Amino acid sequence: MELSYILNHLGEERENYYNAVSPPIILSSNFCFSSVGDMREKLKRELETPFYTRGFNPTVGTLRQKIAALEGTEDALVFASGSGAIAAAVMSSIKGGEHAVCVAKPYSWTSNLFSKYLAKYGVEVTFVEGENAEDFEKAVKPNTKLIYLESPNSLTFELQDISAICTMAKKYGITTILDNSYNSPLNQQPHSMGVDIVVHSATKYLNGHSDIVAGVVASSKERIMKMLAEEYMTIGAIISAHDAWLMIRGLRTLELRVNRSSESAQQLAEWLEKHPKVEKINYPFLKSNSNFELAKKQMKQGGGLISIQLKAKDISTVESFCDSLKAFLLATSWGGHESLCFPVCALIQSASFKNPLPYNLIRLYIGLEDPAYLKADLEKAFEKI
Ligand SMILES: *Cc1c(COP(=O)(O)O)cnc(C)c1O
Repeated sequence: MELSYILNHLGEERENYYNAVSPPIILSSNFCFSSVGDMREKLKRELETPFYTRGFNPTVGTLRQKIAALEGTEDALVFASGSGAIAAAVMSSIKGGEHAVCVAKPYSWTSNLFSKYLAKYGVEVTFVEGENAEDFEKAVKPNTKLIYLESPNSLTFELQDISAICTMAKKYGITTILDNSYNSPLNQQPHSMGVDIVVHSATKYLNGHSDIVAGVVASSKERIMKMLAEEYMTIGAIISAHDAWLMIRGLRTLELRVNRSSESAQQLAEWLEKHPKVEKINYPFLKSNSNFELAKKQMKQGGGLISIQLKAKDISTVESFCDSLKAFLLATSWGGHESLCFPVCALIQSASFKNPLPYNLIRLYIGLEDPAYLKADLEKAFEKI
């Protein structure tokens, strides 16, 4: 399906709402019927037709069609957060007594889910460094039912060989889930490489305006209907119609935003790589990156995130660099219009804190501003140290 059609028209049944160009926000929690017979009929399809908004809401329905088409899957669900979407996808794919393999260093709350939460329900987990695809096969046990990937992750951007891992997983009948937030559906298409369930923090690129928290799951009709009837309805972490509408609006400019962010980040990464005050840079689309060949194979281009290790003798030097930035806001998250700086040293709360990451690691998110404006701001901050 054409990208322009998906972003501008798919799922928008304008004749049902006065031919309005922009879809209505259907806030109603419930929907009514003309007779008991009608109600009984609709109740049979409670999860596919307007009955109660926790199951199906028309505004959310429009968004689900767009997300599924963007990821090239049959269906999709939208949640109140990326973490909600990830937890639902994982919980629908594993149960007590089974074993999961998870890539090392996924997003922090995904890590919490796999390293702590699932143990409460008797799920065993093995973490695997993602570099060699064979390491995933070595971790497989007779009761392995799930492999969880995040390629690349959102801090240091290590990749996994998606096709190789999914081919292996299919041989053993193991479900694969991949967090595709870094790429958006435009820069990487995991389902076409064999991934069963694609998840996103839609808070990032999909919505793209730093004004909602949301998540999506894209998969086959069968898996989505099962997840809808179990995790989605039971846990009830649904997106509101209002936030679904904001995401539909955000999606109108997905292509423009993602390309701008990616192209500016590539330009700045190439400049930062040569900068005398940068000790190390992490960006998958630099020739010097150990994942460069794999990145070219499975991704269209790099994303808007870059991380650097500053040549700084101590934390206070890192702090004065970050504090000098004006064009980059000091904040977590990413994927919005605005450029951001997240220094790892902000995690250090006391002298006894054991930081597994280098103190001089700084993550930059490159937003929609003019790259020359961002570069000048970074240069000024480099001069301060
Ligand atoms: C932000 C993020 C999440 C969590 O999503 P929320 O919308 O904040 O719940 C998951 N994975 C990645 C890669 C993220 O960046």
